[in-house]
Amino acid sequence: MSNKFQVHVLIIGAGIGGLAAAIGIARAGYQVTVIEKSSQLGEKGAGIQVPPNSSHILSRWGLLKTLSAEAMQPGSIIIRSYHDDSILSKLKLKGRDSIEEAYDYPWLHIHRETLHKALSDEATQHGVVFRLGSTVAGIDFQNSTVRIQDQKIISADIIIGADGVNSVCREALLGRPDPPVLTGDMVYRISLSTTEMKKHVELEALATKPNFNYWAGPGEHAVGYLIEHGTQFNIVIAAKDNLPFSFSRGKGDVNEMRERFEGWSSTFTLLLELASESTVWRLCCGREMETWTHGGGSFSLLGDACHSMLPYLAQGAAQAVEDGAVLGALFSRCESREDVFDVLGVYEELRMPRANMVARVSREKVGMRWRDSGEGSLNPWANLNFQKELFGYDVEGEVDNTWNRYKAATAEMRKSNSQ
Ligand SMILES: Cc1cc2nc3c(=O)[nH]c(=O)nc-3n(C[C@H](O)[C@H](O)[C@H](O)COP(=O)(O)OP(=O)(O)OC[C@H]3O[C@@H](n4cnc5c(N)ncnc54)[C@H](O)[C@@H]3O)c2cc1C
Repeated sequence: MSNKFQVHVLIIGAGIGGLAAAIGIARAGYQVTVIEKSSQLGEKGAGIQVPPNSSHILSRWGLLKTLSAEAMQPGSIIIRSYHDDSILSKLKLKGRDSIEEAYDYPWLHIHRETLHKALSDEATQHGVVFRLGSTVAGIDFQNSTVRIQDQKIISADIIIGADGVNSVCREALLGRPDPPVLTGDMVYRISLSTTEMKKHVELEALATKPNFNYWAGPGEHAVGYLIEHGTQFNIVIAAKDNLPFSFSRGKGDVNEMRERFEGWSSTFTLLLELASESTVWRLCCGREMETWTHGGGSFSLLGDACHSMLPYLAQGAAQAVEDGAVLGALFSRCESREDVFDVLGVYEELRMPRANMVARVSREKVGMRWRDSGEGSLNPWANLNFQKELFGYDVEGEVDNTWNRYKAATAEMRKSNSQ
């Protein structure tokens, strides 16, 4: 195991964000340990969308070939009216004049488990050590230690909190409780067998042509896409939260779901009829933070722990992957042990404005602003400026600029201190 400058980095949480940071930092030559409360590595849930800003990073890490072999590549984003399936907007994701052509990297649809396994295998290959079944209960910032629930204490030079939206690390940094807030939205998740779908001629195209299908409705919308080599159709429906107060995630009532979407197109209604079960999920988000980093330079947050967002832009995990890649690129530029303790401040300066901007746009719920008149833009990814900003993100270029600025400023400061 490599150990640049004898620095040990501890990451709390083995979600997509924690694993991305583990890969980035271990690739830069540091000793990395990941602490995870679950007794097994993995991700629950069905599909996840991997947009080009994320597939760009996965490509740099050499994972894109393996993942592409397991993933579906959607041809277009097709936004349809909820009541008659008429096409309101179409954006090519693959082929000529597409998002892939413009930004060089593909948009993928993949099972979460597959993405998670590729990341954890890659981390293991780079010598990352996992401590599973270990729940972090507290952090001592002065001594740079982490307390595990069974009272064991682990020390590290750098600690990264990647423990998701219900983050213990975030509350430790703030020194007070800070539970995520209700967004007023919930989702239904369904997975359909495409063998069953193909028995219905109206569903043939959905079951065979990989696309990012989107139905826009009044205050509600649904997304559907193929995963698992086209054998499953993954559906997520976003709706107004009507879950009982004490309930946050669990088995849904498919009959209640069907009644709620009465009046939607016959195709969509048929999809819901084929569902034998659903999962329901209340959507919560953390508040924007003033800082993610502890003053001492040995602690910071990443991913949903500091910039959770609504899933409507398919960017939550993508932004967490960017966080991990930026951390790795910054650690790789350190020339001394002293540099290492400045990394987290530079990381926050670079990442906070972008992640907060994406989170804010996700909360605007552009796609849910359907009116019968069809007014307003329904496709946030079709806005050229936003698209360029979102998908054209170049981790190495961004890190070079910010790191060089930081180095020049510290050199200037040292010079004036010595005069
Ligand atoms: C319905 C839905 C659809 C979505 N679709 C997309 C999409 O298509 N594309 C996209 O990019 N994003 C999507 N997202 C967002 C994405 O899932 C999240 O933003 C992303 O998974 C966050 O990753 P994370 O690593 O920051 O946190 P998490 O995935 O929450 O991981 C946190 C990890 O920390 C562990 N942990 C928690 N507490 C402790 C503790 N005290 N001690 C030790 N370990 C702990 C947890 O067990 C977990 O493994 C979607 C979200 C939802 C809700």
